[in-house]
Amino acid sequence: MSATAHTSPATSPAVAGQVVLAFDTNNRLAVVEAGGRVDLPFRGPDRGAALAAVDRQVVRRSPPAEHFTVETPAGRLAVDLVQAYELAPTASVRFATLDSLEASAPTLDPDLRTILRTLEPRLHQIPYLHLDASDFIYKFRPEKERNTGIYALDATATALYQSKLCAAIKALARAQERTAGQPVSLDFGAVEYVIPSHFGFCLGVKNAIERAYETLAANPGRRVFMLSELIHNPFVNEDLLRRGLRYLQTDKGLPYDTEGVPVPSGTAGARPLLWDTLTPADIVIIPAFGATDEDKARLVRKGIAVCSYDATCMLVEKVWKAARAYGREGYTVVIHGKAEHEETKATFSNTRRYAPAVIVRNLDEVRQLGEIIASDDPRVRARFFDLFANKHTPGFDVDRHLERVAVVNQTTLLMNETLEIVEHLKSVYVARHGPEGAARVGGGARRDTLCYATQVNQDALTRALAEPLDAAFVIGGKNSSNTYQLYRLCEQRLPDRAFFIQNEASIRSRDEVEHYVFPAHGPGGSHGGHLEVHPLWPGDFAKKRVLITGGASCPDGLIQQVIARINSLWPAEALRSVDAVLADLGARD
Ligand code: SF4
Repeated sequence: MSATAHTSPATSPAVAGQVVLAFDTNNRLAVVEAGGRVDLPFRGPDRGAALAAVDRQVVRRSPPAEHFTVETPAGRLAVDLVQAYELAPTASVRFATLDSLEASAPTLDPDLRTILRTLEPRLHQIPYLHLDASDFIYKFRPEKERNTGIYALDATATALYQSKLCAAIKALARAQERTAGQPVSLDFGAVEYVIPSHFGFCLGVKNAIERAYETLAANPGRRVFMLSELIHNPFVNEDLLRRGLRYLQTDKGLPYDTEGVPVPSGTAGARPLLWDTLTPADIVIIPAFGATDEDKARLVRKGIAVCSYDATCMLVEKVWKAARAYGREGYTVVIHGKAEHEETKATFSNTRRYAPAVIVRNLDEVRQLGEIIASDDPRVRARFFDLFANKHTPGFDVDRHLERVAVVNQTTLLMNETLEIVEHLKSVYVARHGPEGAARVGGGARRDTLCYATQVNQDALTRALAEPLDAAFVIGGKNSSNTYQLYRLCEQRLPDRAFFIQNEASIRSRDEVEHYVFPAHGPGGSHGGHLEVHPLWPGDFAKKRVLITGGASCPDGLIQQVIARINSLWPAEALRSVDAVLADLGARD
């Protein structure tokens, strides 16, 4: 049995017939049953005849896509895939999940059995058959179409997501979404806060959160899962769990069992995995990071409506499209990212379909890659497989696959570091091949594939750090690396007065702050993340100037709650009201 791509099944003399596989939006396959046997309903001598068979039973469908041929017991068959949106009232076909068909293999027609086996490498594409290469799975909603009311479902959601102060700051300071502006001052009397023009949620996260809340509200009684954590913020995740959402796996990809306990790979848990309990009635939301082909294929087999609840950020998808274009142009794709991060795993999984790929963590690793590219010594070149073990595509050929490279990034990393990586690689190729060597590096020109959100939060923070300050608080989840990058900038400016906190409760008193020490990354993986208690202002009641910012996973409500907590360290008579401060901003409501 074999499958090969082809373009013209009807004119190929070697093709014995045509099959059209029609999937519903739950990725279940249309089959027909006769005489106890499950068969393919849509076949004919050529594509026209097979599509006509589809159109007798399906009222609306997508154009045919994913053309390939398969050697079956009946000879060589051409296969097209379509998505069927609506069956005719008289239709005799039924839709079946691929898992259920596989489980009843002995009852399947031999051609169907053979074709199903060849589908495996194409499963991840089935949910998106109706999309063109230039379409996006999910586009950002324009501001006026956003469902911001979802953030005020109840008191908990309001406290978490809504902040009058933050809304006023954003209205005032964000003249441009992509460019940092001047920080805003909030003068409460005893304390004056300096807030960068950009902080907190990016558009991708806002869209994904809205999708999650909307889906829960619109589907009472159905099980709603998310592939893994929506964002790295425990308060957002807890609020979603409280509303009934469940996660299928941890951010490291470990599956949860039915009691919510992660099961290490290679071990048999005491209870079934949530993955194994999924049915077509369930909803699984794909978070803004996207998902790997392998995870999408698992969902397709189970009959989950993958595309309907796919909240992959369109800026992440732009990176995937760029990687595909680079692959088609003959580049090897260098992914600037953290190999263990969900988004980088998804980008790597997408890229490997089109190009050899390697993941580099930072400029240091790129310098080592540069030494390998610059050298003809086989011993130096062999170092690639130690340095990038488990971070390159199978069959990577150092001699052939490092001739031309193009860089894409994990969008939550710094755009500027990605651009430095591009520049460094260009210098390596120019040194080796002369001035025309620069053309062997792609990635610098396509700046629109670099997400601005993380960079603009940092640029805005840098501007705010130029102000006179007594302390800086950076709010974010413990495993949020972009929050840690913000903290590092603050630490450089205020070594003993910069704090990485999770929420207002981290500020225990005027004397003590629970500061989170981010884990160090070394050869053994991540280690050492822990809380330390640091002094704040013991016995010091002088007026303070305090910077507050939040990482991309920090809801606005937390910023206002931290402000309220710090204010509470002073007597009420020493403080101005929130309304008075809003009036300063010209935003009293
Ligand atoms: S950081 Fe950028 S790419 Fe990532 S979810 Fe936010 S907007 Fe999208």
